[in-house]
Amino acid sequence: MDERARVFNTMWYNVEVNAVLVSKAERIKNTLRETKERRKTQRVFVYELKLQNLSKRKVALLERAFLEAKWLYNWLLSDIERLDTPVHKVKAVEVKVGDHYEQRELTVLGSHIKRAIADRIKHNLRALGRLKRNGRKVGALKHKSFVNSIPLKQYGMTYKLDFERNNVRIQILGVFRVLGLHQIPDDAEIANAVLVRKPSGYYLHVTCYRSKDRCVSADKIGDAVGVDFGVRSKLTLSNGIKIDFELRETLRLKRLQRKLSRKQIGSKNRERVRFLLNKEYEKLERRRRDAHNKVLAFLKHYGMVVFQDDCVKGWSSLFGGAVHSSGIGGLKSRLRHSLETPISVERMETTTRECFACGLRHDLSLSDRVIVCECGWECDRDVNAALVILRKGLGLSRNQAVGVGRPELTPLERATAARILGSNPYIRVSFIDEGGSLSQATGGDHNRAFCMRR
Ligand SMILES: [Zn+2]
Repeated sequence: MDERARVFNTMWYNVEVNAVLVSKAERIKNTLRETKERRKTQRVFVYELKLQNLSKRKVALLERAFLEAKWLYNWLLSDIERLDTPVHKVKAVEVKVGDHYEQRELTVLGSHIKRAIADRIKHNLRALGRLKRNGRKVGALKHKSFVNSIPLKQYGMTYKLDFERNNVRIQILGVFRVLGLHQIPDDAEIANAVLVRKPSGYYLHVTCYRSKDRCVSADKIGDAVGVDFGVRSKLTLSNGIKIDFELRETLRLKRLQRKLSRKQIGSKNRERVRFLLNKEYEKLERRRRDAHNKVLAFLKHYGMVVFQDDCVKGWSSLFGGAVHSSGIGGLKSRLRHSLETPISVERMETTTRECFACGLRHDLSLSDRVIVCECGWECDRDVNAALVILRKGLGLSRNQAVGVGRPELTPLERATAARILGSNPYIRVSFIDEGGSLSQATGGDHNRAFCMRR
């Protein structure tokens, strides 16, 4: 090869490298823009996969990962200028032990994970900054004594799912068997995930996106329905369905709480009881979430759902734990976000005391279960409230509502309610007929036994 050819080749090489560099930055920018566009037509789903068949070695590995995540988080936080250094190259950090610092090596955290932890702190700092600018009083980010979630940012790089072998490969940590992969549909686009530690085990929360028109909506069984959130019976629909799911703290939970308070602070025993207590809380939370899921799944069968957005915080001071234990606030926010056409009525609108037929205000005490009006309207008070909410939500005036009357509960609605809501043992469903008599539906057997045990 002569000199000219060599020079030409290096020149060509440089041009190529530059082209690659430019196009890489361009490419990333383009993909980001494309992704942003695509997300507009997609819906997000999060699937929970449980890590299975964990050997002692793998548990130790996972525990080490959560520990290292904590070390790195606290190390970055103690001097936030470290956030601007290449965090993914950090090999060891100083950890405070007693009153001095010790060097600890990061052996199982992958480079992507390290960077994601730094990004998480940056994100939190930005969020705090925004709050501060809006005039809120904000504190500083605190050091953590536990880190129970590890972000896995890039699918295919940080982690990868194998649908045939039912496992997940995580950067450096290796391969784990997972349960629940069948939930993820074939056409789903898999995005980031979070490795989560709970008292009941280790989980992977996988975020997926699906095209909106691929998500089939539920078969419609009714056009519009009003929902009244009560205290005694949790939800009453304008068609006379009552849904009650009171999940009180279990006896075991109370016993463990008492036990914990008797244990010496800092002892191994106390740690063990706290672990059991957290496990019990998790169980309760799972039941509550399932009850919410069932209610949402049922309401999705209606074209429109109207409910009153009122202050639950005020209630819980009035009625105590009963409001909290059903998590009504959480259910409302899920109604707001996951239904296609949620309509909320102003919280200052009176609904419970108004006659649905003529709009006359009545003086009802909490013990009056039925509203009887001079105009001839007689109705269960909660159903009446749900009807008033429905009328206000649809923007109908009183005169328009008079011919409407009470919508009849169709056999289809009845069957659907029994099928969906009855599958959760903690939900009690009952139907109020036009005459005001109550009929018990399926479900709730467990709940009754549960109540008796208390
Ligand atoms: Zn009336």
